Amino acid sequence: MQSKPGLTVTIDPHRCIGMGKCTTVAPGIYTIDEETRKAVLENADDATVEQLFAGARACPTQAIAIHQYGRRMYPQIIPPMFGDKIEEAPD
Ligand code: SF4
Repeated sequence: MQSKPGLTVTIDPHRCIGMGKCTTVAPGIYTIDEETRKAVLENADDATVEQLFAGARACPTQAIAIHQYGRRMYPQIIPPMFGDKIEEAPD
């Protein structure tokens, strides 16, 4: 988790499948951890806002979420992943 002015980027390791699209569109900003094979944010201080969003938009599993001052900016919808528990709506 890293912050730029008002921006916080989080990468959910449970959603990340490690195929590296974020590293392709924002090389050197998003990288794959060699041990965990999950994406990590590196050089956040050098990243532009465009690079941060490009990586998030490229992710097919919506593993990268970007919040601004606590409000989620991306993605707008986080679909459930296989194995996620679906909350039942109260009657
Ligand atoms: S694009 Fe998404 S799933 Fe692929 S490595 Fe990056 S964060 Fe993980």
